[in-house]
Amino acid sequence: MTLPFFRLRAANGAPLVERSGQTGRTLISGAWRAVKFGAAQIDREKIDAAAGIPHLTVDRPPQARRGPQPLSFPLPMPPKVAVIEARFAPAKNQRWFDRHDGSWRAWQPDALVVPLSLGLLMADRKRCGLADLPDLTVALVALSSLADGPMDERQRGRLWRAFQVPVFEQLQDRDGSIVARECEVRHGLHLDPDAVADVRAGELRLRNEPTGIAGDIVYGCCECGAESPRLTRVAPLRMAVGAAR
Ligand SMILES: [Zn+2]
Repeated sequence: MTLPFFRLRAANGAPLVERSGQTGRTLISGAWRAVKFGAAQIDREKIDAAAGIPHLTVDRPPQARRGPQPLSFPLPMPPKVAVIEARFAPAKNQRWFDRHDGSWRAWQPDALVVPLSLGLLMADRKRCGLADLPDLTVALVALSSLADGPMDERQRGRLWRAFQVPVFEQLQDRDGSIVARECEVRHGLHLDPDAVADVRAGELRLRNEPTGIAGDIVYGCCECGAESPRLTRVAPLRMAVGAAR
């Protein structure tokens, strides 16, 4: 029998047991007995009784998403947000633009959501006097990807100098969905509730797939007020290994 993915968490959000398919992994031995019930029969009371560990919660398998994610903004949502080369659930304050469509400048948005690589290209074109950028008033959200790697501080600086507003990162999975978002106080990237993430041998894994990104997952409250686990010290894996030497 193949069991669907599930994960048990302690009260502080730390993973205790997770199981995917026919393979299981025990993070603490006391919780292992809980998985004998099988995912179909697991409920909170049985888990508590079996494992003797209070305050367990179960992450259900993520449901298939119906349509695109809504845009989650790190600050109070501004009135006009231009989204370039990305898709989120429709919202009155947002307009979407193709990367070749320069009309977003005339719309004069308060904030911009743009793939990291394209944002850097815009910043470089401005620095070279090849293009003007509108005056943003609130923030820029840079969408980083597994292919491009997470945003580093030099890239953040380039965006800040070009756009003159705070820059926040949101990390995309291979399918373009947002799996982690930088919060207002910039203490890491909070994992999306639907993200199935863990760190093994220093490498971030999404849905049990390696990502090429190094990092840690921190549990507990963040100074921004959110309690969701967050990625910290993210960097391309090769760079992180080199820095450790
Ligand atoms: Zn936070």
